[in-house]
Amino acid sequence: MSMAVNGNTANAVIRTENLTRVYHLEGEDIRAVSGVTLAIYPRQMTAIIGRSGSGKTTLLNLIAGLDDPTEGEVWIMGRALRSMDERARLALRREKIGFIFQSFGLLPLLTAAENVGVPLRMRGLPSHEREARVREALEWVGLSKRARHRPYELSGGEQQRVAIARALAAQPQIILADEPTGQLDSQTGKRILELLRRLVSERGITLAIVSHDPMVMAEADVVHELRDGKLIETRYKG
Ligand code: ADP
Ligand code: MG
Repeated sequence: MSMAVNGNTANAVIRTENLTRVYHLEGEDIRAVSGVTLAIYPRQMTAIIGRSGSGKTTLLNLIAGLDDPTEGEVWIMGRALRSMDERARLALRREKIGFIFQSFGLLPLLTAAENVGVPLRMRGLPSHEREARVREALEWVGLSKRARHRPYELSGGEQQRVAIARALAAQPQIILADEPTGQLDSQTGKRILELLRRLVSERGITLAIVSHDPMVMAEADVVHELRDGKLIETRYKG
């Protein structure tokens, strides 16, 4: 039985309580995320699923501190985001959290290796350490031979592997992925999921994947399901 089942959230890496985000649009209130309380644990692949428009991306942005909740709270490794100023949140995102997106988010004019190195540059790491980390991360995703290729010279699956290497190179404790298989055929998506699984099992990373891909649902250890911004069900496997 999972620790979450008996309510012990002490070792949760991410925790939300009554998390709510209301958008005001043309006089209408949209409750994109509505009263979501959940905990995400290390060494598990956690999926947050739901149809398009169910609030998945909004929830991920709230967890990352990229957006502010209308109500409720997020804790990352025990620290309330609300208690942190923008500078502290930026440091948290740069040092502890990696991001993977549906559209890969690579810079088109940079090589694979340069793309992987971008977050390390922003953190001001010395070049020898940057190069070592970039090399290691590209090797880990199986792309050492593609280091000097630009995104347009890579397949979709390879581009997503570069994006995974970029997230990994920063040595984050948490990786948040928004529809990481959304633009890939199912065979390629399966391989990306296997790689994401290894982030958890080999690197000990806390992984939350937002998706409406049935394959993600099948692969995850824990599935939180959103509907109309509300958490309607949590399923634990294994
Ligand atoms: P998902 O990622 O599950 O497709 P989103 O979190 O993107 O869902 O969106 C949830 C709901 O919030 C949708 O109804 C969407 O139209 C609305 N929404 C998202 N972002 C905004 C915004 N910036 N302004 C107004 N409404 C938004
Ligand atoms: Mg989305």
